[in-house]
Amino acid sequence: MDGPKRWNREWIEEIFHPATTSHILAIPLDFHGGEDVISWPYTADGQYTSKTGYSYICGLLALEVASSSSSMNSTLPPNLWRKLWATGALPRCNETTWRAIRGFLPVREQLFQRHVDTDPSCILCGHVSESTEHIFMRCPAAMAIWYASPLSLRVENVPSFQALWMSFLQEQQSEVVALAQTLIYQIWEVRNRVLFRQGRLVVSEVLDRVMGMAAECSTRAREGTPTSIVVWRRPPERVVKLNFDASFGDGKVDGLGMIARNHRGEIMAAATP
Ligand SMILES: [Zn+2]
Repeated sequence: MDGPKRWNREWIEEIFHPATTSHILAIPLDFHGGEDVISWPYTADGQYTSKTGYSYICGLLALEVASSSSSMNSTLPPNLWRKLWATGALPRCNETTWRAIRGFLPVREQLFQRHVDTDPSCILCGHVSESTEHIFMRCPAAMAIWYASPLSLRVENVPSFQALWMSFLQEQQSEVVALAQTLIYQIWEVRNRVLFRQGRLVVSEVLDRVMGMAAECSTRAREGTPTSIVVWRRPPERVVKLNFDASFGDGKVDGLGMIARNHRGEIMAAATP
């Protein structure tokens, strides 16, 4: 807050996703008119007691156990959560990734189950159900974005969204994780723009935004220090660069992907079977 009765709009916009920002800014700050007081909601007189504090925590733990046993709420070990928040990605990218892993993003499959939305299908490809895993990994749009990014990741080979983040956080350096977080943020952004009819899906534009944001956070993180991430480089003029990858199972090829880009980094052709 900026003073007692005003939200610090600029600061909130910098930290949170636009959808969250609008919710925060919509909270009225002056409906009481009086001074703020500290109050504990679990006793009649508003005074904290350790007994009510204890039973509140027990209630939270019970809730946590109940939700972690349901399949949607995947969770990571505490040290990996800490790494997730300390990669140097922009705060709104951290937040979106965190919400995605916890299953807190309002994907249409969930809104449909809660009877908020009447249509659970994916707005980008028309798939019957937009789950977190679908929109970030299984959707052809998401697969193209991951593969065409400097990570050149064949995300369709990864068994689940949680497995994707386990492997990023356990095996990759912060710069790589930060880039992946930025990618998640931009996939969610383009999905929202298409859903709310404010734009269309163009993979190269999404990647431009990812690289713009990545540049912004790396200059913020430390000026002038070279990063260890291997970044895709443009070919010289009049040369087309072809990146490809294949995976094998049972002695035969079970996955293929390729992408051709020109000296400006524009995608000229891409293919997956
Ligand atoms: Zn889709």
